[in-house]
Amino acid sequence: MGIAAKLKTLVASAIHWFFFLVPASIIYGLYFFAGPIPAAVTFVCGTLHFLIVILFPGEKTERIRPILKVNDMAFTKKSVMVIGAGPAGVASCKELSEAGHDVVCFDASSRLGGTFANYFWPGGHLTSSPYVTAFSDFEPARTKEGNERFTHHSAEEYVEYLNKYCRHYGVKDVFQFQHKVLHVKENEDGKIMADVKNLETGKTTVEGPFDHIAVCSGAFHTTLKPKFKGLETFPGQLLHSRDFVASATKTTVDEAFKDCSGKRVVSIGLGESMADVLGIITTKISKPTTYAACAVRKGALIIPRIAHTGQVADFHSTRLRHAIPKRIRNMAVNLNLTLTPRRNAKAIARFDLMDKLPSKGVTYVKSTKSGFFLPAVEQGKLFIKPALDRIEGKTVHYVDGTKSEDIDVIIYGTGYDVPNFPFIDENSFKTSTGEKIMDPHSVPIDRLFRMYNPELGDKVAYLGLGIRPLVGSIPSSAEMQARVLAMVVSGKRELPSKPAMKERIMKLKKFASMESAEFIEQWFLYVNWIPFMDMMAREIGCIPRSYWMLTRPVLYLKLIFSPVTTFQYRLIGHGAKPKLANDIVFRVPTGTNVRDNVFFASVHYTLSLYRWPRDTLEAIFYALGSLVPKSSKMD
Ligand SMILES: Cc1cc2nc3c(=O)[nH]c(=O)nc-3n(C[C@H](O)[C@H](O)[C@H](O)COP(=O)(O)OP(=O)(O)OC[C@H]3O[C@@H](n4cnc5c(N)ncnc54)[C@H](O)[C@@H]3O)c2cc1C
Repeated sequence: MGIAAKLKTLVASAIHWFFFLVPASIIYGLYFFAGPIPAAVTFVCGTLHFLIVILFPGEKTERIRPILKVNDMAFTKKSVMVIGAGPAGVASCKELSEAGHDVVCFDASSRLGGTFANYFWPGGHLTSSPYVTAFSDFEPARTKEGNERFTHHSAEEYVEYLNKYCRHYGVKDVFQFQHKVLHVKENEDGKIMADVKNLETGKTTVEGPFDHIAVCSGAFHTTLKPKFKGLETFPGQLLHSRDFVASATKTTVDEAFKDCSGKRVVSIGLGESMADVLGIITTKISKPTTYAACAVRKGALIIPRIAHTGQVADFHSTRLRHAIPKRIRNMAVNLNLTLTPRRNAKAIARFDLMDKLPSKGVTYVKSTKSGFFLPAVEQGKLFIKPALDRIEGKTVHYVDGTKSEDIDVIIYGTGYDVPNFPFIDENSFKTSTGEKIMDPHSVPIDRLFRMYNPELGDKVAYLGLGIRPLVGSIPSSAEMQARVLAMVVSGKRELPSKPAMKERIMKLKKFASMESAEFIEQWFLYVNWIPFMDMMAREIGCIPRSYWMLTRPVLYLKLIFSPVTTFQYRLIGHGAKPKLANDIVFRVPTGTNVRDNVFFASVHYTLSLYRWPRDTLEAIFYALGSLVPKSSKMD
């Protein structure tokens, strides 16, 4: 490390540790100017505020009270059809079977695992790590030596995890593969029937009657391919990152990426799939691209799978970090990034991309949790370009006036459209008062917990859709949805009235739009991961308790400083498996390093020192308000 880099690291350390002095100076200042009593009161109340608020990240809107009606003793056995055997479908089948319902799951593909099993490239790895992607009551496989494995699974390893989970919980017999659901409708008697085609025999059968359906058909099917000026003049090949996702088992990497082999390639967008694809085609296949450029419109937040601390990056998703209001966290993270030394071409490329993010909104944008393409940038095999302007024959022009010539292949890394459900009969589903529902296809954000369309009630639940997180994983949130689903189907939880559902949806939608619409075009498909899972946990009754601060302080600190995993939601409440959960929560290491933790804790503690009086008053008024009888309009 050169002297300049060493000096920068030293300054960065000093600034980070300096924040530790801020709350201490405030307390000392109070003691000096106002006396020991105000200083002691501020210290005690500020500390309590800090510890309570830190357990439940998210803004107040996201920490909203549970809305489902509770009837823990209820149980009615039901018949449920699950569409799709990806992680969301698998978790739904397990939760429903475990609760005692009759379940059948149809999947058009030939094996369990959804996208991970059928639409991944050979050797491809997940971007979320095993414990962050795991279901709450089944630990990821250990290493041969018997140690916890924290590094990322390959798609095949994750599919094996899903299979083992099913075997462990005895849910193997519910799945029918190569069965495509063609048409789902509601009968006059309110039961649901489905036309299902056996893709092996070509025969279509009518299945049912079912009391409920769980739509787990996946969000990554309809590719988005925006039009560009002059695209029609391009004589080469147009691909989407999904076109490489053949079959993880039947093809080799060379076969999967043969269209790029030895070619001159331009890609558009730098999401997670594209970041991996670029890394592979430029450096990993036997005959790599001879030229590659990537057009990036608004910068990108690149988080390599392994962070500077040596841990998997998503272990930084702790309650401590995420409890700081986003605006302040954004400033803190930006400061953190500014102070990080840029030692090589990889780091320079990464930080350049971050600098171009709109309003430097690091904590608001979706991240690309892969730095797989960075070595290619360092080796001069990949060029990062600004937005694409126009195409003229084989030449691609960018908005800064530069161009890429003689291009053979253009790859869209532009993501997917809002999921749709061509199999649901738009005219047969009725409201509880008997009117036909013409549009059951609400976008995910127009559904309660992204699951329940107020018009359809609890008959149809959508899982795994519109729950893309900025950090964390989709399967973990889908499992929380599955736990809610099983309780609703059993009657242990009941959906509120239609107006109450709509009111709650509107509140959350307004908040999500305010927070993310400026930064993410498809903001309505994203969730704030920890608050979303906490919201589901409140409904289930399995949210970690704030009184553990006094009764189980060691566990409490572990919850605050460790990465969030779904095992935290099996410690208590419905479906608790405390022995397993405790064991894993204590074994998962503390997220990030001491310096970062002290820095974020100091920022948060400083906020608590001045926020506690206002929040205490608000809590008192809230408690008084809830003593007043509610009007009949309220649910
Ligand atoms: C390259 C790539 C990498 C990814 N990496 C990660 C990661 O690291 N972490 C993460 O959280 N997410 C990742 N994702 C997102 C991942 O796709 C989702 O997390 C996960 O697949 C969601 O599971 P799901 O069950 O909702 O849907 P899917 O896994 O897509 O499963 C849906 C299933 O429904 C079936 N189906 C659809 N329609 C019908 C029908 N009409 N009849 C019968 N069956 C039907 C499909 O065949 C499919 O098997 C990645 C995605 C891609 C493409």
